[in-house]
Amino acid sequence: MRYPQTFLDDLKRQADIVRVVGDYVQLKKKGANWMACCPFHKEKTPSFSVSPAKEIFYCFGCHKGGSVFNFVMEMERVSFPEAIKLVAEKSGVPLPKLIDDSRFEARRNEADAVIELNKWALEWWEQQLESSGEARIARDYLNRREITDETRKTFRMGYAPDSWDALSIHLRQKGATQDQIERSGLVVKKEEGGSYDRFRGRLIFPVMDIQGKPIAFGGRTLRDEDAKYINSPETAAYVKGRNLFGLNLTRDEIRRAGFVILVEGFLDLIVPYQFGVRNVVASLGTALTPDQARLVSRFARKVVVNYDGDNAGVQAAKKAIAILLAEDLEVKILVLPDGSDPDEFIRKSGVSEYQQQRGLAQPHIQFVIDQAVRDRKLSNPADKEAAIDEVLPYIHAVRSRLQKHEYFDIAMDSLRIVDASLKRELWHSIRQGTGEGARAGESAKTTIKRAAVKPTVAEIQLLELLLDDETVRRNILPKMEPADYEDLPTASIFRAIVAIENEGAGVDFGRLSSLIDETDSAAELLPMLLMGDAAPDNENQDNVRPKAEKCLDALRLMNINGKIRELHAEISEAERAGDETKLVRLSVEYSELNRLRKSFEPQSQIAQAENA
Ligand SMILES: [Zn+2]
Repeated sequence: MRYPQTFLDDLKRQADIVRVVGDYVQLKKKGANWMACCPFHKEKTPSFSVSPAKEIFYCFGCHKGGSVFNFVMEMERVSFPEAIKLVAEKSGVPLPKLIDDSRFEARRNEADAVIELNKWALEWWEQQLESSGEARIARDYLNRREITDETRKTFRMGYAPDSWDALSIHLRQKGATQDQIERSGLVVKKEEGGSYDRFRGRLIFPVMDIQGKPIAFGGRTLRDEDAKYINSPETAAYVKGRNLFGLNLTRDEIRRAGFVILVEGFLDLIVPYQFGVRNVVASLGTALTPDQARLVSRFARKVVVNYDGDNAGVQAAKKAIAILLAEDLEVKILVLPDGSDPDEFIRKSGVSEYQQQRGLAQPHIQFVIDQAVRDRKLSNPADKEAAIDEVLPYIHAVRSRLQKHEYFDIAMDSLRIVDASLKRELWHSIRQGTGEGARAGESAKTTIKRAAVKPTVAEIQLLELLLDDETVRRNILPKMEPADYEDLPTASIFRAIVAIENEGAGVDFGRLSSLIDETDSAAELLPMLLMGDAAPDNENQDNVRPKAEKCLDALRLMNINGKIRELHAEISEAERAGDETKLVRLSVEYSELNRLRKSFEPQSQIAQAENA
């Protein structure tokens, strides 16, 4: 079901973004825009602005931005349809009846069908745990873990009987077809046809989405010889790494507390929750993903990572740090005494002792340094270098420049680096974002690389001009080729502008966002680019086009420089290999590129600003 398009168009026209936003924050008129202190981050001077003309909001501090619907979604933590309802109410536009859209329905149906079967399975498993004789083993296990009936019911735990088909039979009796059962992931398909129940003789933990619908399950064995946990496969309702266990129950407490404790397993969340520590989420077995970090960042800006104290836990924590820093979150690490996990520790030592330990959690940089100097002698140059290499990527990944500097100083002190020129060099290497010589965990490196892909000044200016000015679009776009932007992080925005121009339509936020995949990080830049003032209204029109042309030249020059850098590497490789024929070919290419580069010389100033 969805709203009719005519209603949505109507609402977009009638919804006054200034009025809706003004319900939440105190707006002050400034030029064509309205300004306020941002409701999404702490600040004393306003950097949050609303443009009634462009129908968008944008914060120059935390870079949140979008339409009036995005604002309400963010503010009220609601889904898009719910935001539509709220905006309609605030704008006095009457809500129409929902209509059926068969294509939309089809997509939705598949996920709904899986959730429906999950609900049936879960209710049945809950009954089994409550009352079946066979489930005594599971009830005993919960008693040993001091898990109360109330907690068991809150988290809707269940017991899957030790049978190949008991659940399948139950689902069929409820009316499910074999096809639906197979698509639900509740069974394992057999090669020769047919299927058998996936979870057998296990304690069941349902994984809920944020609305509390069961989308997947984890099953813990109650016999020692078996795999400890098995989990649902991906289905139409469940994509691994997109959800966090417990968030449907803990989101409000997380927002109240202003920080979230990140743990690994089901019981690491359930036991603290039972004892009153309720600002917790669990990443569930798999390593923390960027999607999960983004989900966390919607509810709190500070994260305390509380993984197991063993070596695997420490390595997982280091990976999590890199992922969380890339989302601009403040990260602390809590390692409990004797390598305990939160579940054990709280049952053994009590909740106040746990809270005390939590208060002692280390800033991420201290944790990383401790790990790097452990088992190394800083008096040994090779050891010292290795330790530096291990630490630097984690400073590099910090987004705030001020914090980055603070962490850098801590690291230099702890690693006993006193030489001023070496310090300068190291600071330069992290600030520039080359990260060369940094050899931390592979995933940390990848994350840092991803975080380092930032659009250049020339690219941003050109986009701002293209978005702002129809004449610029008409004059510049025909001169551009896909090769000019295809390798840029903002390629999708350029493509969208070209597509809209070809349609002959007007460039606006709604149309642009509909053309850019929402998982593309470039989509987040749109509000900033639309708010940009590369071409202030009072600027002489004659200056705007040359400005855009200069930016385009700068982009092309950057492309050439990039190719030359690659060629350099290829040439030294060929030299080392003694490949004369290749060397000749490469040096021809090199002189051509060089000649091309010279033709851009007058624009070198912009090119120098490329890394600013
Ligand atoms: Zn902000």
